[in-house]
Amino acid sequence: MGLSKKGIGLLLAFIIILIFNEQCFAAATLNAVRSWTAPDYTRVVFDLDRPLLFQETDKKDTLKISLEFRNCKKISSLQGCEIESPLIRSLRLSDSSPGSLLIEIALSEPTQYQIFYLRKYKEKPDRIVIDIKNPNYAQREQDQTKKIIGLKKDHWIVVIDPGHGGEDPGAIGRGKYKEKDIVLSVGIMLRDLLNKQPGIKAYMTREGDYFLSLRERIEIAHRYHADLFVSIHANACRKPDMKGASVYYLSRDGATDEAAALLAERENASDKIGGIPLGRDRMLDSILIDLAQTHTINESIDLGEKILGELIRIKGLEKEGLKCAKFGVLKSPSIPSVLVELAYLTNSSDIDLLVSKKVQSQMAQMICDGIVNFQAGRPFKDTSGHSYAKTGTDTMDYKIHVVQKGETLWHIASIYSIPLDILRELNSLDVSSTIMIGQKLRIPGNY
Ligand SMILES: [Zn+2]
Repeated sequence: MGLSKKGIGLLLAFIIILIFNEQCFAAATLNAVRSWTAPDYTRVVFDLDRPLLFQETDKKDTLKISLEFRNCKKISSLQGCEIESPLIRSLRLSDSSPGSLLIEIALSEPTQYQIFYLRKYKEKPDRIVIDIKNPNYAQREQDQTKKIIGLKKDHWIVVIDPGHGGEDPGAIGRGKYKEKDIVLSVGIMLRDLLNKQPGIKAYMTREGDYFLSLRERIEIAHRYHADLFVSIHANACRKPDMKGASVYYLSRDGATDEAAALLAERENASDKIGGIPLGRDRMLDSILIDLAQTHTINESIDLGEKILGELIRIKGLEKEGLKCAKFGVLKSPSIPSVLVELAYLTNSSDIDLLVSKKVQSQMAQMICDGIVNFQAGRPFKDTSGHSYAKTGTDTMDYKIHVVQKGETLWHIASIYSIPLDILRELNSLDVSSTIMIGQKLRIPGNY
């Protein structure tokens, strides 16, 4: 039985439509919906197999976010979505006009939100992201910041920064152990240990599994007027025999070696995985070239040495070394900052150490001891900021300058080519302080 002419024509048209559809209008598939809740926002992520057009369909209802994904279908197993967030009451997925998918998020209270697209990056698929702001966060954060600044007069403020989080798992060992979980666990233990130390208060950049951009991490440290910033990570390498602990400080010129440069590139890529891509930060870059940072870097080196010295006392943990590289998260011009790579998630003996809760608590203890050693002999700072002056027990190299007749602070700073601010800081002088003939001033040896 043959097909009629009309039948053949219809079949051809059908095939052509199929081919056309497949090549030009292939529908996107929604494969997963995930969410993370940070103190200041909840992020909802839609994993897609290709980019698509989307639009908000109803902007009038302040208690609902309605979004249409054009030419999109969801995998059949994806029915409803449980979102654990105080900001979201429910999330519904339904088919709307032909071939489109409607997303409806019912909010607990009206708030601001941001919708954006993140393109495929390495193993991360194309994603549409909704960040929903916690409207009560600003007030809570203001109160917290006020409290911390109040503590500053007789406490050192240490900000602990567990790397990665949320969207960005960091390195992965044996296919299941994620860097973001291990470093959060060590970070929390470290915070609790430091808070038992007299004269120290420790705070975290993140306390849960959510994403923070590198800039947000630095901003938290500045908002809390941190005296020290310790970022915690676990390393990874293609070579499975690479092992051991290393501590990094910021390099202004280049990395210690190629592996250090590659590592910095990978850690800095965190923002591409989980955040809104940001342009180069001119402000930070220009501060970076400021000589004032030399002092901070020297302090960072001292802190790094002390932490590494303790860390390698852990049985089975080797010393990889103290290194430098251009880590974005260490770019604070005034806060001594280090990045600790605890051990390698890609090495079979290191990974056993990293996943053991017992060893994690030893690691936290050793980093705590390193910080306490660093702090010993350095006086508290006042609330005005960044006095890094030391007592006579310090280990840093200083020259002493005896003030001569007719000399001003500005004159002395220019003799040694040091920034005036550094000279003031090291000698606990403020802008209104005067100097006297015969007064002894500390001059840092590295200038
Ligand atoms: Zn990392």
